[in-house]
Amino acid sequence: MPPTLAFVAPWESSRAVANLPRTPRDDVIVLLVESIEKGAQLPWHRQKLVLVLSAMRHFAEALRAAGYRVDHRVAPSYREAIRDAAREHGATRVVATEPREWFLKDEFDVLRGWLAEDGVAFVERPDRGFVVPRARFETWAAGRKELRMEWFYRELRREHDVLLDAAGKPEGGAWNFDHDNRQPWPKGRPAPPRLRAEPDAVTRKVMAQVAEWRGLFGRVESFALPVTRAAAKAWLEQFVVERLAEFGPYEDAMLAGEPDLLHSGLSSLLNVGLLAPMEVIRRAEQAYREGTAPIASVEGFVRQILGWREYVRGVYWHLMPGLRIANALEAPMGLPQWYWDPDGDGSYDGTAHPACGMRCLADSVRQVRDHGRTHHINRLMIQGNIATLLGVRPEALSRWFWAAFTDAYEWVELPNVAGMATWGDGGVMASKPYVASGQYVKRMSDYCTGCRYDVKQRTGPDACPLNYLYWDFIARHRERFASHPRMAQMIRTLDRMKPEEVAAMRGEAAVFRAAVPIEKA
Ligand code: FAD
Repeated sequence: MPPTLAFVAPWESSRAVANLPRTPRDDVIVLLVESIEKGAQLPWHRQKLVLVLSAMRHFAEALRAAGYRVDHRVAPSYREAIRDAAREHGATRVVATEPREWFLKDEFDVLRGWLAEDGVAFVERPDRGFVVPRARFETWAAGRKELRMEWFYRELRREHDVLLDAAGKPEGGAWNFDHDNRQPWPKGRPAPPRLRAEPDAVTRKVMAQVAEWRGLFGRVESFALPVTRAAAKAWLEQFVVERLAEFGPYEDAMLAGEPDLLHSGLSSLLNVGLLAPMEVIRRAEQAYREGTAPIASVEGFVRQILGWREYVRGVYWHLMPGLRIANALEAPMGLPQWYWDPDGDGSYDGTAHPACGMRCLADSVRQVRDHGRTHHINRLMIQGNIATLLGVRPEALSRWFWAAFTDAYEWVELPNVAGMATWGDGGVMASKPYVASGQYVKRMSDYCTGCRYDVKQRTGPDACPLNYLYWDFIARHRERFASHPRMAQMIRTLDRMKPEEVAAMRGEAAVFRAAVPIEKA
């Protein structure tokens, strides 16, 4: 019987997610591909490449050991690998998961024609890396002007019976406990030790390989993510046992040098396919039912995965391809080189420039450079906020977020950047821009201690740039947001300021902006 070729994408690195027969079959060949085109697309974080390549290599071995026929190859592109493998194996059918990202949709559009010419059938299966099919979001979004996550999330909780009591009402008496979850990190309390999975020989070999590759971002030495399903499950278990109970209250807290604090670090594992989202949700729910974690923390965590993760994937497909160029605030600026090289020492591409003086940005970028990640509030309220205040083009910021994180894929970074962080989508995802002055950073972090700028000052050479950039942003977009109910208070505060002070802040913002080193195009 002619075989079927089962293409498994690099983000389907375990049987929890990959679309494969439950048991090995002689007439099914599993195809795993390392695409040169994909590898060259962006200056990927070295740890992202280690994660993806090592997880794929471990998965190939695990499948072989379980008796599957595996073809694992390096090829110019996914489409060419699939066409060539189908020819070489004499396959009459190719099975693949529906594309998770736009670039693969484009590749599959070409591939479909090639396979048809060869008389090979092409079958797409639903993506098991999410709780609901893509179509579920489209049904929900149809006819809505605003696509607020909260309503989608509540529907999914009802449909999948997550954190509901016997009467079908939300556990704890509310759908949302965000108001309990806004505490800064307690002064003097040390950060919890970071979760670690020790690299084995296979991973160390990939690390050594990747360390040699030029034109990439980030440091490889501290790589400590799981690359197998067993290690990913152990990581989840450790998070639930040691951190989940306190996840909620400190969800928004930031601490210098700490990419995770009590966050799970699970995004890289979910997004590469080592864990399936529903198993993570059920494990957290179990902790609530067993009384080891309170509802505010468990609900806060479940909302991230069943809510935000499913929702942003839906928004991505709903708004693509236009989302790539969304720029509702008409932001004109390129990306500050500080996002690649906060110290200005030329460590990224050999070009030196003045170091970033804002400790919040410099430190959070160092976290990304050194570990390939930092938690949500650093991304949204430091890296996203500062870019938005400066007027960085969402597309330039998105390219960085896509390249620089171990959990980054366009389907998830792009809605977060173009929707949440920069308001580039003009309010589809967030009712107002997520912008804040230095006061927010002071309240929620220790970044301002030891910063060369003074967070209490709004003007003058020592003033925190976030302060004058914030008021410059409000003034710049005054007309656009004049009748916006949630921006009105800020506009009123601006209007009450002395015109000379506003002029001084706007002048300083212009001078600061002009001195920012911008990445080379
Ligand atoms: P936790 O706080 O422990 O949350 C648990 C899980 O919920 C995460 O692992 C993740 O899978 C999911 N989640 C939480 N928030 C979001 C969200 N806003 N969108 C989608 N899923 C979410 N997440 C990515 O996975 N990849 C990205 O490339 C990415 N880029 C981002 C860019 C910006 C500008 C912003 C503001 C957010 C981005 N996020 C991205 C979302 C979020 O910041 C990360 O998922 C989270 O910080 C990962 O850390 P964690 O696993 O410790 O998360």
